[in-house]
Amino acid sequence: MSEFREDEKDLEREDSELSQQESSKEEIEKTNLRLRLKELESRIKLLEAERASLLIEREHYLRDLEYMKRELEQIKSAPLVEATIIEILDDGRAVVHSSNGPNLVVYVSQALDIRKLKPGMRVALNQRGSAIAEILPKSQDVYVKAMEVIERPNVRFKDIGGLKKQIEMLKEIVVLPLTNPDVFKKIGIEPPKGALLSGPPGTGKTLLAKAVAGESNATFISTVGSELVQKFIGEGARIVRELFELAKEKSPSIIFIDEIDAIGAKRVDVGTSGEREVQRTFMQLISEMDGFDPLGDVKILAATNRIDILDPALLRPGRFDRIIQIGYPNQEERLEILRIHTRGVSLDDTVDLEKIARELEGATGADIKNLVVEAGLAAIRRGATRVSDQDFQYAKTIVLTRLGRTQNKNAGIFI
Ligand code: ATP
Repeated sequence: MSEFREDEKDLEREDSELSQQESSKEEIEKTNLRLRLKELESRIKLLEAERASLLIEREHYLRDLEYMKRELEQIKSAPLVEATIIEILDDGRAVVHSSNGPNLVVYVSQALDIRKLKPGMRVALNQRGSAIAEILPKSQDVYVKAMEVIERPNVRFKDIGGLKKQIEMLKEIVVLPLTNPDVFKKIGIEPPKGALLSGPPGTGKTLLAKAVAGESNATFISTVGSELVQKFIGEGARIVRELFELAKEKSPSIIFIDEIDAIGAKRVDVGTSGEREVQRTFMQLISEMDGFDPLGDVKILAATNRIDILDPALLRPGRFDRIIQIGYPNQEERLEILRIHTRGVSLDDTVDLEKIARELEGATGADIKNLVVEAGLAAIRRGATRVSDQDFQYAKTIVLTRLGRTQNKNAGIFI
């Protein structure tokens, strides 16, 4: 009996051991499964991230492909020819001036509304040059860069030292016709269209032109001849045309062309394309000048320091037939310029402007302005609040050294 009980106990122990073993096996399996699940989850996350980055890459490749396709199309297509409309004909065709030379009579593409086309517009011709294919935007950028426009400049004749005779001439030639054209109409004469200011650099030609505009309450529109031919290659003639158009739009106005010798120098031959370009700009200027009304409210001033090389065509009656010479200021004029430029400057008692003016033989207005700035800077460097004679003496050495260099070039002006 007791043996039987022993066996039963053994069996029970075995059972419990077995069930224990089974439950720990289950636990292990569960843990394994959990681990596998975690592993799979992180793999899914990784794959999702990979997919997202591949999608982005695909997007980039598609964009690159589009770009390449467009580039290829552009490279394969023939270039259009740029032209300017001169006239719209009654039969629906147009006369254009093509950028590569001749005037052409062309058709207008059916896709364009012919009523939108106006003379002076920039258009593109098809590659055979037989039809207007596109209207191009005005290249405003170039004009904005090539011109300076000041509505009613605040410079007045009182801001100019010396140059009294020149101011009187300009009052008669430019200010009076702009402010009181009736005087000329009553007498029955035509005032000059403008004047040419001739003189060394820095003697106040631009300042004078701005003051004329200021005194006449006119818009000042200026451009520089050398820039028209060096910086805005191929655009010179058009810029000149735009210059006159803008002047009419903003009238009363004064056109000022600085360094006119760059476009208006005498030329023996016009062989190179650069020379032809200068010639075209020059011809445009002449035709614009001939075309405008001397009694109108646009006047033209130009400046040069090389009058000797100017084309005589430019100096004919009705063009720049009034030449105003501007020279280096004399002692009295230098003093006036000094007084103007030291108007707002705090000077101490040691400063004797007359003495300084005497010592500046050969200096231009620009040099004198420079001198005052240098003297002011010297005072600031000293920590002073007023400019002294010592500062002017220091500034003089700087300005005169600079002057010595330019004067040597102009031989004989510097003492
Ligand atoms: P450039 O031929 O180099 O263009 P410019 O003759 O036109 O020279 P401006 O540009 O008018 O000379 O002069 C430069 C500056 O010098 C002026 O802005 C002005 O401050 C000063 N200046 C020149 N002349 C005079 C003057 N007579 N009175 C007062 N300031 C003057």
